[in-house]
Amino acid sequence: MTIGEALTHSRILLEKHGIPDPETDSLLLVSHIAGLDMLMTRLEKNRPLTTEQEQRLSSLLLSRTQRKPLQYLLGEQWFYGRRFIVDKRVLIPRQETESLCSLAISFLTDRKNGIALDLCTGSGAIAVTLAAECPHIQVYASDLSPDALDVARMNATANQVTVSFCEGDLFEAVSEGLRFDVIISNPPYIPSADCKNLQQEVLKEPVMALDGGGDGLDFYRRIVTEAPHYLKPGGALMMEIGYDQGEKVSSMCVNAGYVDVLVHRDLYGQQRMVTGKRPL
Ligand code: GLN
Repeated sequence: MTIGEALTHSRILLEKHGIPDPETDSLLLVSHIAGLDMLMTRLEKNRPLTTEQEQRLSSLLLSRTQRKPLQYLLGEQWFYGRRFIVDKRVLIPRQETESLCSLAISFLTDRKNGIALDLCTGSGAIAVTLAAECPHIQVYASDLSPDALDVARMNATANQVTVSFCEGDLFEAVSEGLRFDVIISNPPYIPSADCKNLQQEVLKEPVMALDGGGDGLDFYRRIVTEAPHYLKPGGALMMEIGYDQGEKVSSMCVNAGYVDVLVHRDLYGQQRMVTGKRPL
């Protein structure tokens, strides 16, 4: 089979199974097994695949028809211009979360001895991005899942940054004496009952990275309450939220005594982040 034939075969198969974007998925999967970038795959249509490559493609296509996320099959996702290793142990980093990173990066730019903490780090996408974009700061990151931390450590190494990872429930494993300029988090925020009705691909992601309790706000209640103890005066709490959680999470922050509480929109125009500061 040539690359061109593999592309057509993959596209038709994925289309038949109702996969949302068969054209892109087939291009990415064929490029992956051929070891080429997408442009070369388009240019080298007559190049034959080896039997082994054909077999790998068949098995990846089978997994994709079973709605396994494309990123898990490729083993990677790009985030803030960097490659992150992903597999079923971690949530796939989302483009929306890049906006959260941008907020933190602007805030940290002129903080010479800055120190940041990423709660529920998962793949480490946020922590690694902050460490890479702000080399003058120290970054800590925690997660309850040792499996996720294994992936996050690989991502720090692969992106040549240093992040201090600790295993524990939110602040549990954070050293008592540390005080942060920024505490950032993209916690699980989907109401438990909605977790069953997600897109099939999302159902293949770790439920503990998605399930935010009965009303989806369990993590915000805990983070908003506990963070002031770990923030420097004037330090900022920055959290990603669901599109309809802005009012509730920002009120939580105001009631807990944070100042400069703001709801921010992502690049799609959806309310996506809440920030607030510990008073000076
Ligand atoms: N911090 C990671 C991300 O934003 C994981 C978040 C999570 O597991 N809820 O992609």
